[in-house]
Formats: sequence, C-alpha cells, structure tokens
Amino acid sequence: MLPPVDTKLPKVGTTIFTVMSQLAADYDAINLSQGFPSFEPPDDLTDRIAFHLKRGANQYAPMPGVASLRQAIAEKTARLQGQQIDSDDEITVCCGATEGLFSVIQAIVRRDDEVIVFDPAYDSYEPAVTLAGGRTIHVPLAIVDDEFEIDWQRFCDALTARTRLVILNFPHNPTGAVLSTVDLDRIADIVRDTGAFILSDEVYEHIVFDGAVHHSVLSNDELRQRSFVISSFGKTYHATGWKVGYCIAPPPLTIEFRKVHQFTTFTVVTPIQHALADFMNSEPGFYDALSGFYESKRDLFCSLLERSRFRLRPARSTFFQLLDYREISDVADAMLAEQWTKEIGVASIPLSVFCESDFTGTRLRFCFAKDDETLRRAAEILSAL
Ligand code: PMP
Ligand code: GLN
Repeated sequence: MLPPVDTKLPKVGTTIFTVMSQLAADYDAINLSQGFPSFEPPDDLTDRIAFHLKRGANQYAPMPGVASLRQAIAEKTARLQGQQIDSDDEITVCCGATEGLFSVIQAIVRRDDEVIVFDPAYDSYEPAVTLAGGRTIHVPLAIVDDEFEIDWQRFCDALTARTRLVILNFPHNPTGAVLSTVDLDRIADIVRDTGAFILSDEVYEHIVFDGAVHHSVLSNDELRQRSFVISSFGKTYHATGWKVGYCIAPPPLTIEFRKVHQFTTFTVVTPIQHALADFMNSEPGFYDALSGFYESKRDLFCSLLERSRFRLRPARSTFFQLLDYREISDVADAMLAEQWTKEIGVASIPLSVFCESDFTGTRLRFCFAKDDETLRRAAEILSAL
C-alpha cells in the first residue's frame, strides 16, 4: 500500500503560468499570459553556442560558473552599478533566477523565520520559504494614482525580531514599479538595526523605461553588504528557455549560497555559459538597447489600446502591461482571465494569484514581448470589448 503522501506544500497547485499557457494553447488564444518573447535571441549569440558545443565545451562547468562569464558579469556590474564585484568570491552562475532564488532561501531561512514579500509577489518565493520551514509575511504594495509602490509604514510594521529575509523585486513583475536611490536609502535605514538579509530579484534589470535607469541594491554600499542579488539571462537575451542566471552576494553569503547550489544543480549548461561570456564582451550594446526596444513595444501596445475601455498607466519597466477592466466587467480577475482566453482568444495573467489578500482589483497583466503583428491582433480584440 502506498504510504500517505502528506504534502509539504498543501497550498500549492500548478503555477498560473503553466495553467494559462496551456489554456491558451487549448483554445488557440493569443498568449499574452506567461512572460516569454515571441522573437529569437541574437544570431551572434546562438552562433557562439554552436561554436562552443562543437569545440568540446560539453562537460561540467566549474561549480561557481565559467570564469569568463563571471568576469563579464563583474565588468557589467561595475559599469552599470558602480561597484567592484569579485568574480571569484561573489558571483555564482545558477540555473535561471528560479534556482538562484530557491538556493538563497534554502541557505538563509531557518525554521520559523519570517520572510517579507511585497504583494503582488512572484509565485516561486513562498513555496521555497515553506520548504525551508519559514513563514511568509505578505506586505501589500500601496496603489497611489494607479501606480504601485512600497507602503513604507506597512513594511516597517511587518519587520520583527524574527524577520530573516526581505525579498525585493524591482523592476517589479507584474506591476512595473521601480526603485529610486532615495527608496534604496530608505530601505537601508529601515533594515539597518535588524537581523534581516535582502534577496533582490532583479531579473528585469535591463528593461526600464522613460529615461529611468535601474538602481540595484548593489549600488547602495550599505545594502550591498547584506544582499543577495539574483538575475537571469533569459529576460535580457530573449532566451527564457535557457535557464541561466546568476547570484551576486558578499563572500560570506556566497559561501552559504554555494553550499546549497552545489547540491541543487551543481553547475549550469556549459556551452551557453561560454557563449554568453563571449557575447557580453563583444556586444555590451545589446543590453544597453533593450530598454528602448521594449519601450517601443510598450508604446505600440498602449497606443493601440487608446480607444479601448481599459484604463492603463504605461508600464515603467519589465515587459508586462497592466490593464484595468473596471469599465468592462465586474467579474473577478482569475475568472475573467480564463473566460477571455476561451471566449475572445486573448490570454492574460490575473494579479490576485500573487497576493494574500485581494487588493489589486480589476487588473490583468498582458505580456508585450511579442512581435508587432501579435500585439496588433490582440489589441484589436481587446479594443472591441
Ligand atoms: N523572478 C521573476 C520576477 C520573474 O519574472 C521570473 C521569470 N520570468 C523569474 C524570477 C524566473 O526567472 P528564470 O526563468 O531565469 O528562472
Ligand atoms: N516569469 C514569467 C512570468 O512572469 C514566467 C515564468 C514561468 O513560467 N515560470 O510570466
């Protein structure tokens, strides 16, 4: 007889991204739900993968990652965030941001520790905290003038002697909120005398609009000392299927991170690491141009919806646009996302699934990392509602 399974994750079902993409496929809907581009990585980059694949880069990479890739990450971080990072002791290449986030949480969170997340919170954080024996404390972002931002009072109120980790995600999925240097100073003030580490999920670091730039927690000298920064090449190089990311943390934190990483995946796909290093060195302009590329997509999508009944604030970052459907329907977001996928043929992501309490109202998330024709077809359908 099979012993009782007694699940370790009773609250977890199938991730919304899988559910919505499957539904979109089943109903042949335009899939603006799960976040992935409809275009290809640059040819020069895929050519380098083919090169390294044929030249024997097919065995285990070093556990912390290929040295040339770690150096390229350090150079980029020095250039963009003004910080010297030691590529040997502070950078680890991991299997996408997902593994990085998971390994940090397993390395740091102990039984009954509290972990603060800001709702809407990306869906992989809480299950990882639960598996580590910790408790997730959900702090809703504030909505001010239709923009999402940190609710400072609620953040302060949520911190306790048990707070072990604060998870930040700016540029923010799904709302596009970003942090300023003043915000970073404020966070540093708030956590200064606490025992909390910071886990900063910065996978959209290169997609920030309207002349703004991304301010990493690494750019703040004080926060840097207690932070793990996670990023992913999937977003930057139109290659979400490659699952290569990295973790930057000070040496004592990197030591703990690697203790988990080495037994989670050990290493990450070797030829792609070499190719990414080559490409980052030869074409740093690619990630410099990414914000402009996605800003045009955002502008196109928003302008196509100008005469629709949706309310919108153009996204400030990421490749997601929130649309508020309050004038069109009063159906709950999760139900409406399903209904529209089946009935009008456009799939989106409801925000309520990322929140402990319902506060995001009538907003759905649409991915605009798509070719213009797809955006036009989707906008035409949405404008007819
Ligand atoms: N964090 C956020 C906020 C994301 O949006 C994503 C995925 N899109 C990830 C982490 C996971 O990234 P990866 O695919 O590199 O694991
Ligand atoms: N991060 C992607 C999104 O927000 C999805 C990642 C996934 O499917 N696990 O859409």
